[in-house]
Amino acid sequence: MIDAPYPELDELLVLIGEAGHRLSEIEASEGAAGNISVYAGWPIDPRRKFPLIETIELPLPMPELVGCTFLVTGSGRRLREVIQDPVANLGCLVVDEGGQTGHLYTSPRRLFKHLTSEFNSHLAVHRDQVSTSKTNFHTVIHAQPPYLTYLSHIPRYQDTTYLNRHIVRWQPESIVQLPEGVGYVPFLVPGSPQLMEATVSALREHRIIVWGKHGVVARSDVSVKRASDRIEYAETGARYEYMNLVANELGEGLAPEEIRAICQALNMEQRVF
Ligand SMILES: [Zn+2]
Repeated sequence: MIDAPYPELDELLVLIGEAGHRLSEIEASEGAAGNISVYAGWPIDPRRKFPLIETIELPLPMPELVGCTFLVTGSGRRLREVIQDPVANLGCLVVDEGGQTGHLYTSPRRLFKHLTSEFNSHLAVHRDQVSTSKTNFHTVIHAQPPYLTYLSHIPRYQDTTYLNRHIVRWQPESIVQLPEGVGYVPFLVPGSPQLMEATVSALREHRIIVWGKHGVVARSDVSVKRASDRIEYAETGARYEYMNLVANELGEGLAPEEIRAICQALNMEQRVF
């Protein structure tokens, strides 16, 4: 939830660009991998930035979110390039009356034909989160950080408890940033309804999930950067874990009682240890 005064469209575009740039710096968005969407629950007039208008079929009905605005990366666009020219890389979607279609506003400099191919998962997560929490702001990011994704190829890490107890043990702030851990969703075909459903349900329990053998999805109702930071924290833990595997598991990691002591000192709840 964001308090008024709400960010201007320009500010949102810059924040999406900065998050995309950072994800690229940590090598979580090679080529055109990854996508970002933002829901804004306050009135935004997109027409000065995005003067071209077309009607598109929504991948799923959104009657709960009529009139709501989404900023979404275009299919095939590179997250690292959004910052250079946000309007060329993003579309602005406003849900029409009835919730079956939307007005898609784009720029004459638009560099894509369609919105991201993972748009069904993005919209389904926004719809679920916004209708349960009534938040006026929500962001969803999909990225492909290599260490987390690599661990998801190793059978014993294909389990939420095992994965978390191993990646959240390397730095004291890991548990603070990921108190409910990272959810694990087994491999499902990208863009499929099955992946969309599994994503919605895993993101009810977690603010970041791993898509097995593919990447991650993070959400935040505070800021775009908060979601990209979460990816960075989880990826850092996975990187330590990978280093430890390569070093014949010489590292101890923080012990569960040390991690519980950190949480006690900060008076915070966690669900991993
Ligand atoms: Zn992907």
